[in-house]
Amino acid sequence: MLELLFLLLPVAAAYGWFMGRNSVKHKELKGRASITRNLSSGLNFLLTDQEDKAIEQLLELLDIEAATIETYLALANLFRRKGDWDKAIRIHEKLHQLKLPKPQAQQIQFELAKDYFCAGLYDRAEKLLVNLVKSPKLAEMALKQLFSIFIATHEWHKAEQYRQAVESTTSRSLRVAMANMLVEALKQAPEQNVDHLMSLCEQYPLAIRPKFELAQCALNQQQPLLAKSALLYIVDHKPQWAADILPLLRQCQLADDEWYQLLSKLANKQHNISAVVLLARWLAEHGSATAAEQFLLDKLTQQPSIRVFQQLLQIRQQQSAPAAEVLSSVEELVNAYLDKKSLYSCRNCGFKTRNHYWLCPSCQQWETVEPVAGIDGR
Ligand SMILES: [Zn+2]
Repeated sequence: MLELLFLLLPVAAAYGWFMGRNSVKHKELKGRASITRNLSSGLNFLLTDQEDKAIEQLLELLDIEAATIETYLALANLFRRKGDWDKAIRIHEKLHQLKLPKPQAQQIQFELAKDYFCAGLYDRAEKLLVNLVKSPKLAEMALKQLFSIFIATHEWHKAEQYRQAVESTTSRSLRVAMANMLVEALKQAPEQNVDHLMSLCEQYPLAIRPKFELAQCALNQQQPLLAKSALLYIVDHKPQWAADILPLLRQCQLADDEWYQLLSKLANKQHNISAVVLLARWLAEHGSATAAEQFLLDKLTQQPSIRVFQQLLQIRQQQSAPAAEVLSSVEELVNAYLDKKSLYSCRNCGFKTRNHYWLCPSCQQWETVEPVAGIDGR
């Protein structure tokens, strides 16, 4: 009879395992119910505009449930977009304390740095970003964010230490930004150094600022040949800058023939308005007013332009004394119209201005504010 009791042992073991499993399940369910309860009350606080209580409630969950981090990141980003930087910081700081896999931890570090930047805590943001410059995934974004700090604080000299890091990325805009910040750092020096500017020109061929500054520096130091080669490089590679470059090139003692060839190329191949206007003046001086007038009429039929029309009015006034009085009042109207028009616009954000900025005041990008094109263009 006693032997029969041994036969019941497997049944008892199975019963024990079953009950044990149920108890774990029960605990799990209880835990989940508590999470759901906390989450629901957290969301409820959020929906009833009690954001501080909501954050407390939701942050408590973090200790238990690390799998919902994406939701917290989305919530923190939402606060940052709304301008509630302190709330975004609290969430990101809490996430930053969790032990997470490296890529996720670095992403949170980057987000926290962005919060600090938005809140004006530049030193804290910089400290976090410095660690991310070597991360293959975040290096480019971390460098851009670091450069935003240098722009805000005007600490241009700090850019220098990231030259190598920029070279290890493929970003064109980072190279242009680096070139511009190094020029800004040079400008803070008591004296402009032509050799430094020349080496920046060589190292950053994508940026036009070093060449522009070199040309102005060379002109100030009576070195027209050096200025000329820098300016010709700009118009060759970025003909849209001709409006600002041609007046400087005029100071570089170009031979008449060279000047004519340059203007012809820009006017006929690039359809640059400033070159068309200057070429018409050249024709009026070296050829005849009729040739200049015909050239302007041809250009106007190809491409309507207010500035070309303005030049045509000036030449017609010189040619015909009786028509001069009428034409001069038309010219006054055209001048008044053009005086109100923007001379530059940002190709990145569309910001329009009559002054030139190397750094767009609206979108904070370097070298995107260019002379305007189109019917009012130059
Ligand atoms: Zn812009």
